[in-house]
Amino acid sequence: MRKNYSLKAACCSIIGHNYQISHVVNTRVYELCCSKCGKQMTNNIYGELVPLNDRYSKINQTLKEMARKRLKAKALLSYAQNV
Ligand SMILES: [Zn+2]
Repeated sequence: MRKNYSLKAACCSIIGHNYQISHVVNTRVYELCCSKCGKQMTNNIYGELVPLNDRYSKINQTLKEMARKRLKAKALLSYAQNV
């Protein structure tokens, strides 16, 4: 199993990763996963692509929660204006 991973990782290092969006945090931040080797990346608040570690995972979780609360507040405000 470990041999397959290193082979895939070597293949990615030669050809390059094939990143696909695995999780959308908000309109600007999303998480990417390589379809070949499974390496996870995210973009930070500056738009740079960085490896997804525990720190960025917690930051993304907080950003998603903030986006959810903002949408909920906007929906409540819209509902209150229409009533
Ligand atoms: Zn890869």
